[in-house]
Parts: sequence; C-alpha cells; structure tokens
Amino acid sequence: MTDFPTASEFTGNLELDGLLELLRNRRAVVLSGAGCSTESGIPDYRGPDGRLRKRLPMKYQEFVRSQEARARYWSRSAVGWERFRSARPNTAHRALARLERLGVVRGIITQNVDGLHQAAGSRRVLELHGSLARVRCLQCCREVSRERLQRRIRALNPHHGHGPVPLAPDGDAELPAGTEENFAVPECELCGGVLKPDVVFFGENVPKARVERAWRLFQKGAVLLVVGSSLTVFSGRRFVLRAEEEGRPVGIVNLGPTRADEVARVKVEGSAGQVLSALVTRLDGSGFAAEYGEARSDGVAG
Ligand code: NAD
Repeated sequence: MTDFPTASEFTGNLELDGLLELLRNRRAVVLSGAGCSTESGIPDYRGPDGRLRKRLPMKYQEFVRSQEARARYWSRSAVGWERFRSARPNTAHRALARLERLGVVRGIITQNVDGLHQAAGSRRVLELHGSLARVRCLQCCREVSRERLQRRIRALNPHHGHGPVPLAPDGDAELPAGTEENFAVPECELCGGVLKPDVVFFGENVPKARVERAWRLFQKGAVLLVVGSSLTVFSGRRFVLRAEEEGRPVGIVNLGPTRADEVARVKVEGSAGQVLSALVTRLDGSGFAAEYGEARSDGVAG
C-alpha cells in the first residue's frame, strides 16, 4: 500500500463516504475519460471549467478526403507520438487496477486511446475509441503497429520535428503552421492505401460490434462509475443515459462539471488519482473489500 496516500490526505471525505456507500455490495463498471490520464501528462480536451481548451482535433471526413489534412495529422503525430508513448500509468490507473483485483470493479470502458489502464494491470478493458498504438490501412484493412510506422515516418522524414514541443490531446503536438508542407506521408506498405490510426475520429462512429461488446460489459456492473470525463461526447454519455433509463446508480469522480452531474447519485469533485487512491485505502483499510471476495477472471473484453 505504499503508493497510495492515506484517506485523511483527501479533503472531500463526505463525498468519499457517499461513493463508498454506493459501492457497498454493488460491483461497478467504470467509464473512464481523458481526465484519468492528465496526471500522466496527457492533456484533456476540456479542463475543470468545462470549456474546450483548444481547437478540436481533425474530423474523420477531412482526414479521409484530403492528402493535405493527412500530412498535417501525421506531421504533428510524428512528434506527439514520441511523448505520448512514453507516458506511464498514474495513481488513478493503478487504483482502478487494484479495485478490479479486489472485485469492486468488473471492468473498464475507456474513451482513452493511450493503453494506460492495461499498463497499470487492469485486465478487462474495452477501448471504446480504439488505440493509438495501432494503425490500419483504409483500403486493405491491414493493421500495423504505430511503433513500426513511426520508424518508417522517421526514415521518410529524417529532419522533421526534433526538439521539445507541447503535447496536445490524442498524441497530437503543437507545431508551427506550415510544418507539414514538405512532410512525406507514409502509405500502406502492401497496397499503397491510406493509413489511419486505429482510433475513432470526431465525426466517425464506433464500430457496431465494439459498441455491443461495451454494452455487454456495461451490464456486468450494478453501478456505473465515471472517472475523468466531461461526458460531452455522446459515444461515452450513452452509458450514463442507459444507466439512468434502467435505474442503475451513477457515481462520478471528476474535476469540473460533467453533463451528468444532475443525474449522478454521487459526484466527487476532485482529482482521479487522489480520490481513487483514498477510496482504495478506505476499502482495504476497513476490510470492506473482503465483502466482494476475489475478482473472477473471465476474459478480457475489447
Ligand atoms: P474531456 O477532455 O472532454 O473531459 C475530461 C474531464 O476530466 C474534464 O472535465 C476535466 O476537467 C477532467 N479532469 C482533468 N484532469 C482530471 C483529473 N486529474 N482528475 C479528475 N478529472 C480530471 O475528455 P473525455 O470526456 O474523455 O472526452 C474526450 C474525447 O477525447 C474522448 O473521446 C477520448 O477518446 C479523447 N481523448 C483521449 C485522451 C487519452 O487517450 N488520454 C486524451 C484526450 C482526449
């Protein structure tokens, strides 16, 4: 327990009591968002004031239709990926993995594309919006690792974007306008088709089969616990809407407002790392976790 602070270090104890009560004798499915990874150095889109920090990332239609847009995307991602891949799980990820081992959490539906839940040891993780670690050809559907593609990008563009630049959400980076002008965009090695990161872009739908898997995981929880998401994007908010329809209680841990604050049974306003680690400490410290028995491992969703 050395990596988790004591519950007394967390100031929102009243709300924490509410969260503990919510989880008493009920297993939870977690819906996580960008706020879960800010403590790992990956920025979110909306900060605690609920407003969009910067421009939204590229839309699917723009990426598919325009070679220029793809040059802009890959030239920025070539730099952003180097920082993104070096991010490490933070206390929030580790606490959620611990909660799964304790049997309190049945699984995580994550809107994040950074793989940090799995890196922290969470076993049942459904990546609703895909993963930046994979790239897919839109023509022949071949999948390659982002690492492999990064080596090709570097070989094609040896003088591109070295040096420190601010990381933007989704493995993007802030580069001066026009940097993409001489950038060589990699194509599929097999068929010459357009390569796209295996993540759901704005304006693109989550694949149907994946949504169905997410609903199956959702059904395993008697509580929906939202961690670090503004719930602005429908693709994540739909789980809260369904929970509300079915009378399934919703708990939220978030810094700043979300679109479900008024329907949540409990809202804890605080940093995910601090709140979840205090929660684990309370659960382990009180013997509360024993009520759940050992977590069963019946497969990894996603
Ligand atoms: P969002 O940016 O809309 O909302 C994040 C929320 O988390 C905000 O309310 C913010 O105030 C809160 N927050 C920030 N730091 C926090 C912390 N330490 N503890 C608790 N709360 C904190 O993000 P979203 O709701 O996930 O939706 C945005 C979309 O962007 C998602 O679809 C996701 O795919 C994508 N995205 C992913 C990543 C990633 O993989 N890490 C990063 C940025 C965006």
